[in-house]
Amino acid sequence: MSKIRVTVWNEGRHEKSNATVKRIYPHGMHSVIAEGLRRQGDFEARTATLDDPEHGLTEEVLKNTDVLTWWGHMAHGDVRDEVVARVKKHVLEGMGLMVLHSGHYSKIFKALMGSTCSLKWREADEKEIVWTIEPAHPIAEGIGERIEIANSEMYGERFDVPHPEETVFISWFEGGEVFRSGCCWKRGHGRIFYFSPGHETYPIYYHPQIQKVLGNAARWARRRVTLPDACPKAEAVQPIPKHEVDLSHMKNWGK
Ligand code: ZN
Repeated sequence: MSKIRVTVWNEGRHEKSNATVKRIYPHGMHSVIAEGLRRQGDFEARTATLDDPEHGLTEEVLKNTDVLTWWGHMAHGDVRDEVVARVKKHVLEGMGLMVLHSGHYSKIFKALMGSTCSLKWREADEKEIVWTIEPAHPIAEGIGERIEIANSEMYGERFDVPHPEETVFISWFEGGEVFRSGCCWKRGHGRIFYFSPGHETYPIYYHPQIQKVLGNAARWARRRVTLPDACPKAEAVQPIPKHEVDLSHMKNWGK
């Protein structure tokens, strides 16, 4: 079987400007996420960042992408609208999309959800427990009952998204909040997974269970079809006899 082609997209700005982030992710979060996928054997993972020409998301790249992962935070506004439209078109045609952590506020996620995608947040180095609530879901395969993250950024409800078609994980935070941390939707022919753990100042993308979730999610979200929008006029598949248009229900409406 051919490998699943993943494009790992990262804004890549915190890694350049923040010493803590630079120390944890010297080559950017995208390089760790991509390497975590490659080590699972069935992925061909490449990376793209905001500062690449066309943000690294040309028509050619997206055409050859089965799943796109998206991490952004401080520069959502710098993502060009025509690139967002291009990504959206590819999702509707069948490309998978995994939106990670602060990507909840990205232009592409908001465009696909149709809501504000806002949430509560707090940076207090607190503990997060990611509870698996759908153990039979392919994204939860091999994860077990829970993932414990020693230090995390709190993301809390309400998460303003359309009711998820499937909720795989719910997180609890030391400070008391809960959050729907792993959610699935379909838009057009594309599958979308949102996964909240992944704040830039914590080494969350090195966590073996987090890497496993990302691999499972990429397998689940991978492109199955490529069906451009067409809205075609259709020839009948079998003959239709000639009908007169029935106007009888108009008769009481007068002249
Ligand atoms: Zn964050």
